[in-house]
Amino acid sequence: MARPSYMAVDLAALIDNYQWACSLAPKSQTMAVVKANAYGHGATRCAIALQPYAPIFGVACIEEALALRKAGIHKPIVLLEGVFSADEVAVAAKQDFWVMVEDPTQVSAVLNATLPKPITVWIKVDTGMHRLGLSPGNVSGYYQQLLISDNVATEIVFATHFASADETNNDFTKHQLKLLTDTVKSFNTPLSLANSPAIMAWPEAHSDWNRAGFMLYGNSPLDVDHPSSKGLKPVMGMYSAITSLREIEAGQAVGYAQTWHAKRTSIIATVAIGYGDGYPRNAASGTPVLVNGKRVSLVGRVSMDMITLDVTDLPAVKIGDPVCLWGKDLNINEVARHSSTIGYELMTRVTQRLPIRYTH
Ligand SMILES: *Cc1c(COP(=O)(O)O)cnc(C)c1O
Repeated sequence: MARPSYMAVDLAALIDNYQWACSLAPKSQTMAVVKANAYGHGATRCAIALQPYAPIFGVACIEEALALRKAGIHKPIVLLEGVFSADEVAVAAKQDFWVMVEDPTQVSAVLNATLPKPITVWIKVDTGMHRLGLSPGNVSGYYQQLLISDNVATEIVFATHFASADETNNDFTKHQLKLLTDTVKSFNTPLSLANSPAIMAWPEAHSDWNRAGFMLYGNSPLDVDHPSSKGLKPVMGMYSAITSLREIEAGQAVGYAQTWHAKRTSIIATVAIGYGDGYPRNAASGTPVLVNGKRVSLVGRVSMDMITLDVTDLPAVKIGDPVCLWGKDLNINEVARHSSTIGYELMTRVTQRLPIRYTH
């Protein structure tokens, strides 16, 4: 008695992926990025699993960091976008959250705060993403101010973020890398540059602190097959089961707005998963789905609570047969391409309705 739909999260695979990220960059330390509820996998459970291995965690905001502290995470946590208001600086210092400093407002917030103890600061340099970060020409002045401030702990890290590291033939990564190293060359400070694609495809961008997010969850962010994805194991699986079967005639349509018409007499299977669970509504007819481990096609519109599949070519299909929407045997990136998005978004979009089954 239960809707047969759930998300499986393999925490042993998560740990293996973390160690794989470390092994690709043996001279770097590797931050485990667990923002956005650990890319939809459950930040608390994932951080607890990774805590024995990861020296620091990365999140997007202080709310996420406080939730991790409450759950018993005692390692430093980097606020990757820094603080959103000046009053967060004192809370961050007290909790041993490290703050990225991204713009002059955040520099002032750190310099002017009344703190229980000095705070660890990472200075973000805008080397071409043009979203956050101090511009290279201004970095030196702000660095000197932070360096002499009693509010700031001694070791300041310089960071930047790559715009196109997933594109393995795009030289913009090299340009960003050079701009960062030129900007900081007289400072002799630690650096933090690489996200998952740079850890995997741009070894020259490895530095003191790499920041691994997407790859920890077991899929490659790169635009090509690459040896660095060999050790990655998908952590998340989305599963359900066939709940209804019917035969329709050639010419009949399936689902809302009748977007798909049968070309032959067809067996249509209904599955208890929909956009209300985070399965993308814009997944097109033809998106692969596994039934009993075999590939079939999604047909018709994705509904809130259900999808429909063409299982005409599967012999002996029956109600209750297991369905995989993505996971170890069906790459989430492939599913994402059929709905014009990326695996990152599909992971973070899984909704609360779907129960999570953790395995270790
Ligand atoms: C999210 C994030 C990362 C992790 O990126 P992935 O591509 O998921 O590895 C790294 N650095 C910053 C600043 C981020 O915001």
